[in-house]
Amino acid sequence: MTSYSDVSFFPRIAKPLASYKKYWAARFGTAKFLPMSKKEMAALGWDSCDIILVTGDAYVDHPSFGMAVIGRMLEAQGFRVGIIAQPDWQSAEPFKALGKPNLFFGVTAGNMDSMINRYTADRKIRSDDAYTPGDVGGKRPDRAAIVYSQRCREAYKDVPIVLGGIEGSLRRIAHYDYWSDKVRRSIVVDAKSDLLLYGNAERAIVEIAHRLAAKEPITSITDVRGTAFVQRTNREGWVEIDSSSVDEIGRVDQHVNPYMMSADLARAQGGACVQDPDAADAPVGLMDGKTKPIQFVPNPALKTSLTHKNNLVKTDKDKTVIRLPSYEQVKSDPVLYAHASRVLHLETNPGNARALVQAHGEGTTAKDVWINPPPIPLTTAEMDYVFDLPYARSPHPAYADANGSHDHATKIPAWEMIRFSVNIMRGCFGGCTFCSITEHEGRIIQSRSEESVIKEVEAIRDTVKGFTGTISDLGGPTANMYRLGCKTPEIEAACRKPSCVYPGICQNLTTSHDPLIHMYRRARALKGVKKILIGSGLRYDLAVKSPEYVKELVTHHVGGYLKIAPEHTEQGPLTKMMKPGIGTYDKFKTLFEKYSLEAGKKQYLIPYFIAAHPGTSDEDMMHLAVWLKKNGFRADQVQTFYPSPMATATAMYHTGKNPLRKITRESESVDIVRGDKRRRLHKAFLRYHDATNWPLLREALKSMGRADLIGNGKHHLIPTFQPLVKTGASTTAASSKPKKGNIQTQHTGLPPRDNGGKGFKGGKTRK
Ligand code: SF4
Repeated sequence: MTSYSDVSFFPRIAKPLASYKKYWAARFGTAKFLPMSKKEMAALGWDSCDIILVTGDAYVDHPSFGMAVIGRMLEAQGFRVGIIAQPDWQSAEPFKALGKPNLFFGVTAGNMDSMINRYTADRKIRSDDAYTPGDVGGKRPDRAAIVYSQRCREAYKDVPIVLGGIEGSLRRIAHYDYWSDKVRRSIVVDAKSDLLLYGNAERAIVEIAHRLAAKEPITSITDVRGTAFVQRTNREGWVEIDSSSVDEIGRVDQHVNPYMMSADLARAQGGACVQDPDAADAPVGLMDGKTKPIQFVPNPALKTSLTHKNNLVKTDKDKTVIRLPSYEQVKSDPVLYAHASRVLHLETNPGNARALVQAHGEGTTAKDVWINPPPIPLTTAEMDYVFDLPYARSPHPAYADANGSHDHATKIPAWEMIRFSVNIMRGCFGGCTFCSITEHEGRIIQSRSEESVIKEVEAIRDTVKGFTGTISDLGGPTANMYRLGCKTPEIEAACRKPSCVYPGICQNLTTSHDPLIHMYRRARALKGVKKILIGSGLRYDLAVKSPEYVKELVTHHVGGYLKIAPEHTEQGPLTKMMKPGIGTYDKFKTLFEKYSLEAGKKQYLIPYFIAAHPGTSDEDMMHLAVWLKKNGFRADQVQTFYPSPMATATAMYHTGKNPLRKITRESESVDIVRGDKRRRLHKAFLRYHDATNWPLLREALKSMGRADLIGNGKHHLIPTFQPLVKTGASTTAASSKPKKGNIQTQHTGLPPRDNGGKGFKGGKTRK
């Protein structure tokens, strides 16, 4: 055991981001905005860019936008970085706008998967795009990562292409694609990129840029964590194991029990320990001639270990690669698909994950896609480094309207959303199966220092136009996981659990909200700051562990309504989502109401629910509707399950299997809500109060044998009479602002869409 009790201070074995020798071009200094034209390059004194980032989002120079983070990070390393944002993809010409990059093209579809950005959960096309000036849709192609990569290759065929962003990250292996209803190949194969970076890519992109600058060919860069590529040569010295053999016993690896005590270890070695209360004939002395001394053996599940001397020492890195079933196998066999998904998810902890390999193609055309283990999380000092980079905190001036403003016709809604908010951490250990944040950012929380966060609040106060004193969020993927994590680095490195909070809060998880409370107090005491709101989703099962936090939140940081996401009331879907039971919601509600009353405030909880999630029966939705009615809730907006690439729930949707358990041909099947009719019914239950849904609900309730819920009394779900309503019209007004008792059944962190209240898309995740 070590003395590290806060995950923020666990030592991480990785080269610090700030430790690289700067590239010679650092002499050009820092650009106010990264250039988007040759004219801007000339003004900076550049004759060329070292790296050009191509992105599907408008360029907003703010740490919430991927291209800005990566661009500023590379600039801080001394490279000249240009941006090509939302280029016309019909030809290669727009991709030559900044000339030929000296080192590589960095390609990303943007902050969202381009298909999620463009289509609704019912696969209907959207007309808007929150990442585009004026909220206009259609400024990026479908499957933008592939299209942009192809155009970059056409523009300059000898320039390496490094693909990143969420679209690439979550399509790194063969994956189910909801929009084509097919299993697609790894995006590395389709985009023909030289390297794919998955997860948060600062570490990988910095190392790759310096190695390319040192003239190393991109084909030889095969050892960087968080990368995937088509394997070009046989890899010497690696041991390959078949994934179906490692998942034989229900877990990927029979690693040493991280909770094993010395007494257990002694027993395992045929000896006994003096401190073993269970040892009937425990010896008085350890070395009495009969007792075997305990041999401490290294935990094979750990690839690295800590020493007293310098804390960071590399032990033998396990050269093991797990071979997943091939693309052709997972495409044609849902059981193998579910198995591959399960193995991938069990290999996501940077402390013990092994490399994965998956064949694409057969015979002479076969190629292997190699996926290195995930990136090592950033330390707090590195998080500060990333967030303290010199962002202009504004969209590029090219997007300004005739008056030089970004607030009117050319407003970028996603920027508007985060304009006065501060991201305090990354990662999520919740593991909700419908969300891919863990697969992307990992479940180890990476937190900024309080100092760095406070500095950013002050920068918003002092420099951001339009600031009126309210910070709209101090959050991240989750509002209340700041500086929380496993108690020790050893246990964290050995763990393969998909969630630290499901099916209950892990006994090894630190749950103290003190650092967060301290930060809230300091931020709201700043001169010129009138209010700090918390807009990110709250993990309420964690929050109830700290009533003091709930009190702080409710008393000072709720703007009348607090969004939380029970997602469902029934165990069937909740166990497939890995979400806590509704009883925990009730506990939180009690605290919320108590502290609101004490503070003399009228405040309301806004619960969010998902319809049609895998594992949801029609009866589950009916029970949820009854609960909603009983509790006086009416959903304005309805979220139906959206199968996003690589999420565990998507694997359930595609295969009908439950990858949370060991997969066999006989293993548990999951009820999948497919087809328009059944999805419509599940949505209709959420909007039981909408008369347009009543005919459908009456028919369903009768066939379910629950006609007793049809009637005109208070205890009935829907009435017997049918008012006159226009086809397609709703009897409830769509409103972006919830009223008491009105709820939205989704939250995504973006402003509500003006589309008749049928839902909106966005970046932040549900908790
Ligand atoms: S599940 Fe428990 S043991 Fe595993 S990382 Fe989380 S807190 Fe640690």
